[in-house]
Amino acid sequence: MNIKTIKVGELRTNCYIVSDDKEALVIDPGFEIEKIAPEIAGLKVKAIVLTHGHYDHVTEAFGLGAPIWIGEKDEFMLLHSTGKKADRPLKDGEMLQGFKIILTPGHTPGGICLYNEKEKVIFTGDTLFAGDHGRTDLPGGSESEILSSLKKLLDLPPETRVYPGHGRPTTIGDEQNLLQ
Ligand SMILES: [Zn+2]
Repeated sequence: MNIKTIKVGELRTNCYIVSDDKEALVIDPGFEIEKIAPEIAGLKVKAIVLTHGHYDHVTEAFGLGAPIWIGEKDEFMLLHSTGKKADRPLKDGEMLQGFKIILTPGHTPGGICLYNEKEKVIFTGDTLFAGDHGRTDLPGGSESEILSSLKKLLDLPPETRVYPGHGRPTTIGDEQNLLQ
């Protein structure tokens, strides 16, 4: 599995291109489609997966010609941010292209993480960053929900590599004292 990180927009959102040979997922194409498009040339993009509905993660999603997937409880935010609906609303526990969808509300009501147990990789959006967690003071945010979401994530194997929505990668093991 190849993971390419492209930092997009003023908020330096991490857009990830996850590929195997000829197929790819694009995670959070927030802005700067001109930087993303060349990286997916020659790949069959199976889906655009949005970790949550904030504009800095979704704004360019509809320009890449692939189905849009988002957590079902964040669909209204996508509609608000882009005026368009998702192709597939995601539920907790669904499997997609080898990734398990883990519902992690708190930053937004329907935020999701994408966890690949075999590859020991998780994409955490704005739920878990290196040394921090996402804001809970925006509309739909909840401190108590993000704490229970973080508990779920920190139960994953410590060697799991974490690719967050902003900032540098980390591991579950390195974030174990986040809640202490
Ligand atoms: Zn956000």
